[in-house]
Amino acid sequence: MSGSVGILRYPSETTSTAYISVGSNLGDRLRNCCDGVSALCADDAVRLVARSPFYETEPVDYLDQGWFLNAALKVQTTLAPEALLDRLQAVQHARGRTAAGVRFGPRTLDLDIIFYDHLVLQTPRLILPHPRMHKRRFVLQPICDIDGSVMHPTLGRTVASILNQLVEEGQTLRPCSFDC
Ligand code: ADP
Ligand code: MG
Repeated sequence: MSGSVGILRYPSETTSTAYISVGSNLGDRLRNCCDGVSALCADDAVRLVARSPFYETEPVDYLDQGWFLNAALKVQTTLAPEALLDRLQAVQHARGRTAAGVRFGPRTLDLDIIFYDHLVLQTPRLILPHPRMHKRRFVLQPICDIDGSVMHPTLGRTVASILNQLVEEGQTLRPCSFDC
């Protein structure tokens, strides 16, 4: 045995991988999204690993509103799921998002946790994976742009496979020429 003793490094904090959906259809949509991403990833607690391109997307659920800008993020985070949601909501609030208004209606900034590792969770505040992600082209396409092999923990399918078999009509996506 060698005389040198290796230093064992135990992680002081657990790091998780999360996918986050970003959207805006009110005000300066690009600025809301880009500044929102910067604010979200302003310190080591949430580190940006990848961001998809932006898409202009047709509204779903509530149709009488302007088109959205949407993108997805992959982040590494030391925040627990509910603490990450707290941060997303604080960033939304700082970009002028109010609680008032129609459900699924216009918003300056929407930040949703789509996946948090392979966690399956249902609390009054937080459902993981996001309960409507598998029906939404504007969520699936940008995540596929980052990594189509990401596995949905309860459907047992990759996001690429879910996107390929999406049948919902009226979910036009247009790639954007602009970016942050
Ligand atoms: P949506 O993004 O689906 O249009 P909202 O942004 O208005 O809806 O969010 C409504 C509520 O959804 C939030 O107050 C939050 O507590 C809850 N919620 C449940 N699961 C999630 C999730 N995975 N990501 C973000 N919010 C979530
Ligand atoms: Mg939301």
